[in-house]
Amino acid sequence: MRLILLGPPGAGKGTQAQRLVEKHGIVQLSTGDMLRAAVKAETPVGLRAKDIMARGELVPDDVVVGIIEERIAQPDARKGFILDGFPRTVAQAEALEKLLAKKGLKLDAVIELEVDDDILLKRIENRVAEMKARGEAVRADDNAESLKKRLDAYHAQTAPLSHYYRKKGLHKATDGMASIDEVTAAIGNLLKPAVPRKKAPPRKRAARAAPGRRPAGRKPASRSGAGRAASKTAQKSAKKARSGLKKAVKVRPKKAVSKARSAKSAKAAGARHKAVKSRNSTRNRASKARSGRDRRLTKRR
Ligand code: AMP
Repeated sequence: MRLILLGPPGAGKGTQAQRLVEKHGIVQLSTGDMLRAAVKAETPVGLRAKDIMARGELVPDDVVVGIIEERIAQPDARKGFILDGFPRTVAQAEALEKLLAKKGLKLDAVIELEVDDDILLKRIENRVAEMKARGEAVRADDNAESLKKRLDAYHAQTAPLSHYYRKKGLHKATDGMASIDEVTAAIGNLLKPAVPRKKAPPRKRAARAAPGRRPAGRKPASRSGAGRAASKTAQKSAKKARSGLKKAVKVRPKKAVSKARSAKSAKAAGARHKAVKSRNSTRNRASKARSGRDRRLTKRR
């Protein structure tokens, strides 16, 4: 595993890197530690970096890239490494990419610890107090003035790396202001291999609804963007389906239908009229016969 821990000074990169070393059995490569060792040993690099570091400025890119190139080539880094404090500029990030590509290697993730400036100042004040209490030598750049410069350098030169690695799909971030254990757990989660999503069961096909009518239980399509386009397409195909249906059953034009209907009803009305007429004439004949018979009977009496 090859990781970068990104974050301002005092964000807790060193502490989390140590935990990752224990968990994954990979090495921590801290350019700050390497430079401090070089300053102590008074190597040419150390002599060049000493004053720059004390002022809280960044050591030139070529110096730190050279240190990292040498360190990555060592056998203990073959299994993987955590870069702590490197890269700190986009130029360093590009140099690292080339360096890894030459070896056929790639980064797995870049984890950023996000911490507010006022919390960083308090953390560093505490760190200095603790070191003094233990009787340890305090870092030359752990004072208010240098710290302010280190923070300025971080915001101006290192913060753009979040965007740089986001574009590469490698950037992950977590709240560095949570407790140490919480941050460790969060990093653990960020590094978990992405679990492949379960294949969704095939969706039941919705019952075919009449054109223009939506099946029960289905929400109306969104009226924005893709939804609108989809509904237009649906309307078109419904129209097409309707016209196809018309052709298939050879629907008679409306006029012909009403003509046929009125002819039929006229015929029926005529038949009804005839029936009423014949019934009436039968009734008339019967009543005439009845009145004739009555007259004859009266005469006889
Ligand atoms: P750190 O221990 O990471 O806070 O680093 C301490 C100091 O070392 C920084 O303030 C810089 O002066 C120098 N330094 C460490 N890493 C780098 C780097 N990647 N590029 C430039 N300067 C660095």
